[in-house]
Amino acid sequence: MKKLLIFLSLIIAIYLIGQLALNSHTVQDRILNIGLKNILSNSEPFLDKEDSLKVVICGSRSPLPSPGRAESCVLVEAGDDIYIFDMGNGSVNNLQEFQVPWTNVKAVLITHMHSDHMADLPDAHLQSWIQGRNSPLMVYGPVGINLVTKGFELAYSADYQYRNEHHGEEILPMSVSGFNAVEIIDNELIPNDTPGLEILPFVVDHHPVNSSFGFKVSYKGRTVVISGDTIHDGSVQKYSQDIDLLVHSAISIDIVERMRKVAPTPQFNKILFDIQDYHTKIEEAGEIARDANVKHLLIYHSIPTPRNTIMERVFFRPLEGIYEDYTLSDDGTRVVMPVGNNEIVIDKIN
Ligand SMILES: [Zn+2]
Ligand SMILES: [Zn+2]
Repeated sequence: MKKLLIFLSLIIAIYLIGQLALNSHTVQDRILNIGLKNILSNSEPFLDKEDSLKVVICGSRSPLPSPGRAESCVLVEAGDDIYIFDMGNGSVNNLQEFQVPWTNVKAVLITHMHSDHMADLPDAHLQSWIQGRNSPLMVYGPVGINLVTKGFELAYSADYQYRNEHHGEEILPMSVSGFNAVEIIDNELIPNDTPGLEILPFVVDHHPVNSSFGFKVSYKGRTVVISGDTIHDGSVQKYSQDIDLLVHSAISIDIVERMRKVAPTPQFNKILFDIQDYHTKIEEAGEIARDANVKHLLIYHSIPTPRNTIMERVFFRPLEGIYEDYTLSDDGTRVVMPVGNNEIVIDKIN
């Protein structure tokens, strides 16, 4: 009993000393300075030494809200060069948290011009400008992409000028502000200077979107296909034959129909009905992966993105008996495919 009392007194004393210390300005200053150094010192560099094809999901959700997730964004790293496919809302914040070096980002590629695939382009412009981009931000996209970038340039023209005047021409030069928009042509390789890299765009069907692309990326024998938003029209399957990784969007008709039954407004009910006719069903994504002999299927832009284990199980229920090598991506899911072997390593950036 006596020992217990001594022990409890000791705990209380340590707690009180701790509380007093946290109120001390000197202790607060020391802790804060260590924290700031950790945040800014880039202690875990994004790039590593291994020569590989890497995919990092920088936005895993569709426009339907899901806590802790950004809208569509897929980062592909080939060697030291980075290409980012789509930039939905919240994705640039993720890229900042992952400490992606913007000077290594060679281009942004937009699959189609729905807002959930390009809303963060202005933030990408700012962050890459701050980190020393030496030319306007390179953006590939469907026909009309130049109207999007021109619109952003107009909307942010005052912002560009304020920042240039405040920080100076040397830090944020006006000559590199803005975008360099180039239209994607079906089946024509995206020009790049990364040795061993091929980026092949192909048309997918996301009607009434009149121009929408998927991409096949090949790097020194490793391959990934990104579906973008599409119905199952055969094109993703055609380009996914024997690839390592298929990053596919998918809809659960079962869950969307359940949501319709409890939709709070007729408008939301109608939208939940309409979206069912221009996305690939989860079971179709599984069939594509199976029939194309894909090594692994990574689901992103899930509609709706599961919020817990039960919802995830129901979402993937239609895949039972069709295809088993799948993963539901989170923001930060990373897939590493080293050059020279067949390994596929899946982990998460924390
Ligand atoms: Zn979308
Ligand atoms: Zn879309």
